[in-house]
Amino acid sequence: MIPRSKVDEILDAARIEDVVGDYVSLKKRGSSLLGLCPFHNEKTPSFNVSVSKGIYKCFGCGKAGNAINFVMDYEHLDFVGALKVLADKYGIELPKQEVSSEQILEEKRQQSEKESLQVLNNYAEAYFADTLHTDDEGKLIGLSYFEERGFRPDIITKFKLGFAKDSWDHFTENALRSGYSSDMLVKSGLSKSSEQGKIYDAYRARVIFPIHGLNGKPIAFAGRILKSKDEKSPKYVNSPETVLYYKSNELYGLYFARTAISKADSVYLVEGYTDVISMHQAGIENVVASSGTSLTENQIKLIKRFTENVCVLYDGDAAGIKASLRGTDMLLEAGLNVKIVLFPDGEDPDSYSRKVGSDAFDIFLSENKQDFILFKTGLLKDEAGNDPVKQAELVRDIVGSISKIPDAFKRSNFIKACSRLLKVEEQLLIAESNRLLRTKAAQEARTTLPPPAEQPLNYEQEIKSLVQLQSNDAQERDLLRVLLKYATHSINDTENVAQYVFRELAEAEIVIENPVITDILKLIHAQLHNQELNMQSLLYANDPKLTQVVADMMSENLEVSPHWSQYDVDVEPIETYFRQDVEQALLMLKVKHINKLIDENQLEFNHAKTDEDLHALQQVHAHLLMQRSELLKPRGTVLIK
Ligand code: ZN
Repeated sequence: MIPRSKVDEILDAARIEDVVGDYVSLKKRGSSLLGLCPFHNEKTPSFNVSVSKGIYKCFGCGKAGNAINFVMDYEHLDFVGALKVLADKYGIELPKQEVSSEQILEEKRQQSEKESLQVLNNYAEAYFADTLHTDDEGKLIGLSYFEERGFRPDIITKFKLGFAKDSWDHFTENALRSGYSSDMLVKSGLSKSSEQGKIYDAYRARVIFPIHGLNGKPIAFAGRILKSKDEKSPKYVNSPETVLYYKSNELYGLYFARTAISKADSVYLVEGYTDVISMHQAGIENVVASSGTSLTENQIKLIKRFTENVCVLYDGDAAGIKASLRGTDMLLEAGLNVKIVLFPDGEDPDSYSRKVGSDAFDIFLSENKQDFILFKTGLLKDEAGNDPVKQAELVRDIVGSISKIPDAFKRSNFIKACSRLLKVEEQLLIAESNRLLRTKAAQEARTTLPPPAEQPLNYEQEIKSLVQLQSNDAQERDLLRVLLKYATHSINDTENVAQYVFRELAEAEIVIENPVITDILKLIHAQLHNQELNMQSLLYANDPKLTQVVADMMSENLEVSPHWSQYDVDVEPIETYFRQDVEQALLMLKVKHINKLIDENQLEFNHAKTDEDLHALQQVHAHLLMQRSELLKPRGTVLIK
């Protein structure tokens, strides 16, 4: 835990214009700064930074928040990660966690091993690249191999491709002479140790694909064989797992793809290194590879940090496709939207992009994108033909995929579409899907899992689901809006708006349902209690979900549109209408509350057993209707009691 005082210190130091200015070029416009939004593609700037409030808001895509939110969004970090970046930038020292001295030693050892390995990997990357470009063997064999594949020089340089000579220990010798220890060389997997204790090169006569971490530094290497004289040699030699590299946590190409993925809000998933590189060369940069293995849960989580839209590119080989269908189900299960593109028989993204060229390839991708579930349904349907047993299997299989989708609304859409495609009654698919969901729920209830490890949250998505998608909380949002806007205004002789609103809510027994709004109201209530009402300070709350919502609403309040300042629009002074604004928000919330009570009461009608019950319910109903019409009665000039 980072203590509150440190968070405050960081937020004090982190001027919003300074933090955003590191990434976005900002120009002064009226009272705020304006620039091109880094979160969506735009030609006219709509990304607004308010220096006085310390917040940003994009009027194009709606992203908003404080300095910490910005770093979280831009760098795809969690709250603590963003704090660390800012602390680093402003030279603020964060407290060390309380740990045992053994833990500290182990951490230090790992840290220094990481650092040493990184330095060695940097050296190896440069060494292999140098060999490719300057060594005779490297040029003749390695470089000409890449050139035959049609890789452009700029692409070869961008991906830091390299070459390892056909030699026993050329690399190892050089590394030792440059001062790297044999211990580190073996640990990194760059060298191997013989039974006699001699160490020699792990990569020989291979072209080298460095694998980069999210920071762009080489964390591992893949070496592809060129000559097939030795049938026993594997096609690829890969680094072992080290403190720097956990294979199942990495996606090849992510470092080069991250900006493009964020901008396109989608990612292409391919199989191999060369697929990634060829697609970059064709101008498509939002692409990553699982590097031949099936996708892992961590890789899917990594994708989810950047986007929810995945398009899987399948090689055109029926057996291969069927094998990878299961991996794709995992993407559905993670709640991602999955599309696929199928390549013509015998082609993969690499070969096909070379064959048809960049433009045609781009068109091919957009014209052949299809929804994964519908694709799978079509594929299996053709296979099942008229065989009733196979058809039944097919239905189970498809419904199995659909029931993996966490979103009920999406599920029901797919069931409709598949029922049409398969000419199977929708009801039958629904029944099967419900059966699977019940089984799954029962299994989950039986296994008592340990609490999930802390993981980076997708705040964007959480906020969407909590605030925007709950269309029925519009009234709650509006109430929060007026509170943030006028909390300290006196609304009558004895109360300010905050006091007034909380009293009214309590008297009407209204419970706010949206959890984020509830949390924000709690903070305001606490401020009220301590007599330190300050809405601006909510921007610095410790919970990024809250600050994003607050920042979003505060920017709605004043900067109606960044373009308004260009036209001297006269905005009515707040004092003339704030009472109506507050009253209206409270009124709508009360009406909603009564509507809810009416609905609940009506449900009770179904369970009424005696005439007496029925009569009582009818009375309640009449009373509620009266209350509602009372509320909605047109008001006179006196709005305030
Ligand atoms: Zn934007």
